[in-house]
Amino acid sequence: MTNDRRMIKAIRGTRDLLPPDTALWNLIETTARDVFRAYNLQEIRTPIFEATELFARGVGEETDIVSKEMFTWEDRGRAASDKAQSLTLRPEATAGIVRAYIEHKLWDRGLNKLFCVGPMFRRERPQKGRYRQFYQIDAEVIGPASAGSDSPARDAEILEMLATLLDRVGLTEWNLELNSVGCPNDRARFNEALRKALGPVKDKMCVDCQRRAVTNPLRVFDCKVPEDQPIIDKLPRIGQFLDEPCRQHFEAVQDILKGVGIPFHINDRLVRGFDYYTRTAFEFTHGGLGAQNAILGGGRYDGLSEALGGPPAPGIGFAIGEDRLVLSLQEKQSAESVTRRPAAYVAPLGAGMNREAARLARELRRQDLVIELGDESFRLKKLFETATKAGAKYILIVGENEAKADSFALKNLATGEQISVPRAELANKIRA
Ligand code: AMP
Repeated sequence: MTNDRRMIKAIRGTRDLLPPDTALWNLIETTARDVFRAYNLQEIRTPIFEATELFARGVGEETDIVSKEMFTWEDRGRAASDKAQSLTLRPEATAGIVRAYIEHKLWDRGLNKLFCVGPMFRRERPQKGRYRQFYQIDAEVIGPASAGSDSPARDAEILEMLATLLDRVGLTEWNLELNSVGCPNDRARFNEALRKALGPVKDKMCVDCQRRAVTNPLRVFDCKVPEDQPIIDKLPRIGQFLDEPCRQHFEAVQDILKGVGIPFHINDRLVRGFDYYTRTAFEFTHGGLGAQNAILGGGRYDGLSEALGGPPAPGIGFAIGEDRLVLSLQEKQSAESVTRRPAAYVAPLGAGMNREAARLARELRRQDLVIELGDESFRLKKLFETATKAGAKYILIVGENEAKADSFALKNLATGEQISVPRAELANKIRA
């Protein structure tokens, strides 16, 4: 204990999610769970921290995330002889889920469609829509190729599911941007061509691009610096380098999407921030979000399982940025409108009435009504004030006379109308 009484605030880039906004968060998560169920996805919960190496290998050393955004620390065991281990707060969910897939041999149990909801951590510069602790709803479909997990049907199914989910939460003006980043062979040839094209111009680009041009030229397409854009616009595109199987795979995804009526457009600059992506890459954007306009991103990662020491297991997945989805929804729907306000305020009137009021509140709550409960020490005026402040629709007076008659005064706080209602009819009356 110290005598320091200064106020302590949440760390920059983290935030408290407060009511009524939390009702919107819940609406989104509940809807996601409902939609996922229809596609036979099941929930997985992986640890918030993992071995740093998992992300270095699973996301890629050269990515912004791994090279500069991870919260990493050395964890010493309790004994002096224990070796320190480097641990990291998860910056994304796919690596952890694929690790779990391998560790528990989930393919043996036929578990190949998984989702996960929870916080992720990246040391980014905080701004609207970008936080250091943010939340993702993540799903992965992974499995042996013999089970069809590399099929374009899976890609299209995931995209159709996402369109359904966004529509269901009420976010209808989304854009689906689609690309194929090919396979490692295509990318090697593409990288070669990019290096060549970047050679004479890279000195005119930002420092990040100068580094990327040497280490991982593909990442140049992540650049947001306005002055670099005219240069980037003239670079070759991955589409020109897709081999025949990759080209056919991409065509097939598009064909199914057209068949199920999901609109999309090809964005040949879309390469995504992670190294492990192959073939289909996608983003859903929403106009209202400004610079941080991506609500969710994802794609195929056919080599990831092997990179993490597992068997070949092609997969496709996505991460919805829940913070951004909430931001987009707030524009059209107030959190207030999805919040359940108390249906009634049970008001014990006079000494000894807490007991009867508690009984009544218990009965009503068990009939799925939202009930606030007052205290017998409150005078009538205070009972009405607290009921109004709580936003209750009715106040239910529980006084000695009412208890004796087993019939209670129910007053509509908006209209002022008051009636006496027998105990057995209370729940129905309040609900109506
Ligand atoms: P990523 O894992 O980078 O593919 O991101 C997937 C989605 O997560 C993005 O489309 C964003 O909606 C969201 N996201 C990523 N980083 C942040 C962040 N720092 N703050 C809030 N949302 C984020």
